[in-house]
Amino acid sequence: MLQLINDRYFIGGVPVLELCKQYDTPLYVYDTGVMLKQYENLCQAFSGINTRIKFACKALNNINVLRFFKKTGAGLDTVSIQEVWLGLKAGFAPQDIIYTPNCVSLEEIELAVKEGVQINIDNISILEQFGHKYGSSIPVCIRINPHVMAGGNINISTGHIDSKFGISIYQLRHVERIVKSENIRVNGLHMHTGSDILDVEVFLRGAEIMYETAAHFPDLEFIDFGSGFKVAYKPDDYSTDVTELGQRLTESFREFCRGYGRELELWFEPGKYLVSAAGTFLAKVNVIKQTTATVFVGVDSGLNHLIRPMFYNAYHHMVNVSNPGGKQRIYTVVGYICETDTFGWDRKLSEVSEGDVIAFQNAGAYGFTMSSNYNSRFRPAEVLVHNGNHYLIRRRETMDDLLRNQIEIADI
Ligand SMILES: *Cc1c(COP(=O)(O)O)cnc(C)c1O
Repeated sequence: MLQLINDRYFIGGVPVLELCKQYDTPLYVYDTGVMLKQYENLCQAFSGINTRIKFACKALNNINVLRFFKKTGAGLDTVSIQEVWLGLKAGFAPQDIIYTPNCVSLEEIELAVKEGVQINIDNISILEQFGHKYGSSIPVCIRINPHVMAGGNINISTGHIDSKFGISIYQLRHVERIVKSENIRVNGLHMHTGSDILDVEVFLRGAEIMYETAAHFPDLEFIDFGSGFKVAYKPDDYSTDVTELGQRLTESFREFCRGYGRELELWFEPGKYLVSAAGTFLAKVNVIKQTTATVFVGVDSGLNHLIRPMFYNAYHHMVNVSNPGGKQRIYTVVGYICETDTFGWDRKLSEVSEGDVIAFQNAGAYGFTMSSNYNSRFRPAEVLVHNGNHYLIRRRETMDDLLRNQIEIADI
């Protein structure tokens, strides 16, 4: 997270321009202090019940970040067998990893069973095949789509009727039939209605549906409410009121447990909430290009490194860290990819010169993990700022990385 101190920008106590000098740009920088604060906020809000936080590692999967969350006491939410393997490599115990894939093969799920992680199934066909194969020997969690509508971009909302995620709540009867016939042990229920739910009410409505559903499954150990915490991207933006959510959900969950007859665990699996604000993406201005329409600031990056603005129309706040306190002017910030890759139109930045460094805030989640080699560009380096020190945690790619898996054939 950027901090302006005496007219200089810092991340976790380290001057930003020094990081750029040492590690070059484009560069992702993550601040463990912010991650810890976010994690503690959540724990605090839900301290009245038995809560487990599973970090959704698709948001940011550097192994050092995974280890950091393991150390804080978090578990891990994974959506692919590769993420499961990463999590195990980072040191998570299998029982602290939940595997929540969508539209994967039974073969992949079998691999996850072998690793001993918590399986979460999100369609009836696989549930049936899973039950046929394992019966009650391996417990499963079932992902329900409660069809509560979350806010945010349609691409990141998963609760709507056209969504491919989860088993519709309207298919509950069918699920029950399969569970009974195959003698499946359902130890958890799960919902994840999408990212950027602003509204505490949406969560609570989802929760009510989960409580009603739970009555049909006597062997539950936990209910997983997924994620959907909204973080503030713009300076005056709202974020989910975690304290209010904590109070109200704690109350309703307690009441549910009384009715259910047993204390269950309540799980969350946030990605963005834990790491978004902790990350800053730094890019250098290659060129300033005046056109008839605007003044473009062209940086040494593009949709290959930070695709959220183009993919989700996401807003990332930008700061010219090279000219604190400079005169404010209007710019359109774009990338160097041969494709329209606009980071933001009509942004107010302190006067920009070629060679300046632009910081993109809230870049910790779905930044690096969605990066690519498009245009044969190298992916950036990653740096972790931890207790006032900074560490290179991923080196910048080289030509060897671009060619790594290519096989040159003799006949061409
Ligand atoms: C992506 C994802 C999350 C994390 O969502 P955020 O908006 O980053 O908090 C949690 N659970 C599942 C199943 C996901 O696919």
